[in-house]
Amino acid sequence: MSAPLTPPNALFAALRQASAAIGADPMLIQAAGGNTSIKDGDVMWIKASGTLLADAVEKDIFVAVDLPDMRRAVADGDARADQPAEFSRVQDGLRPSIETSLHAVFPQKVVMHAHCIHTLAHAVQKNCKAMLAGPLAGLNWAMVDYVKPGTNLARLVSDVAKEPIDVVILKNHGVIVAGDTIEQTHALMLDVHERLRIAPAGNNFADLATLESLTAGSQYTLPDYAPLHQLALDSTRLQQATGGSLYPDHVIFCGIGATALEKGETPDAAATKQIQAGAPAPVFLIVPNKGVIVRRDATEANHALMRCLVDVLLRVPAGAELTYLSDAQNFELLNWDAEKYRSTLNV
Ligand SMILES: [Zn+2]
Repeated sequence: MSAPLTPPNALFAALRQASAAIGADPMLIQAAGGNTSIKDGDVMWIKASGTLLADAVEKDIFVAVDLPDMRRAVADGDARADQPAEFSRVQDGLRPSIETSLHAVFPQKVVMHAHCIHTLAHAVQKNCKAMLAGPLAGLNWAMVDYVKPGTNLARLVSDVAKEPIDVVILKNHGVIVAGDTIEQTHALMLDVHERLRIAPAGNNFADLATLESLTAGSQYTLPDYAPLHQLALDSTRLQQATGGSLYPDHVIFCGIGATALEKGETPDAAATKQIQAGAPAPVFLIVPNKGVIVRRDATEANHALMRCLVDVLLRVPAGAELTYLSDAQNFELLNWDAEKYRSTLNV
């Protein structure tokens, strides 16, 4: 292996600061989602899988990968490209992000990827591309269809990024921005976020007394994030939430779609029903017209992704046609070893 690795100091400090700022904003990043990178010659430093961008200043969350080797593997359709740990310059440490190949295909020095709520509120809608044209006018942007994060997605992005492009909207997933400096790239991320900003709807009152009695003695309780109840308090939003999964991290951390409690059903009975069907107990349950209840043992990552769902749906208009992940797309996410690793680290 080559000479000892030294991160590009001043630049690296700036990357850590920008990453921590993005990571601390739940409107941009939830749990271990999103990632940032910087290229330095033949080395690309990228966030490690399962770590939090919010920790970027306080902890060592970046790992070095061999950039030319990774790029070759993506271009050749080599299956190794979906095993980013194979490209680590230091073995036995943290694994590089499962989205490493996505960063490698950009020629620009700095790449930042977020699961921005305002972007997602557009990117889950069928006619998203037409909707984006106005707000993103003047930016050098493109959109790619949904495929599982990893090499297939990197290849799609690589096709549109051949002519250097600064912003790529990932359908049913998020946004990726690229630039030659950290300041410029960070500013571009915030610019896209602002351009796509949508004010949230939803100010119905939850029936907290009913939820309290329903959850007494059960494995469910009331959520800390009060807006979550809005999923239950409007029939359109209830349908949108229970219609399926809208983006990958929801599937990884909250399971497929969302479950509504049936009339007369107890929360524990709903959980048992799902376990008998071969799935884990739902992380949260929607109680129609009453509110939302969450598992008492829900992790911070579970909470972050529940919050993400309501933050997105409060920004999707009632008549919108949504694109859900297919059964096959849900299945490939749930049976992906790399994701199992990531969700185990981030509990
Ligand atoms: Zn992502």
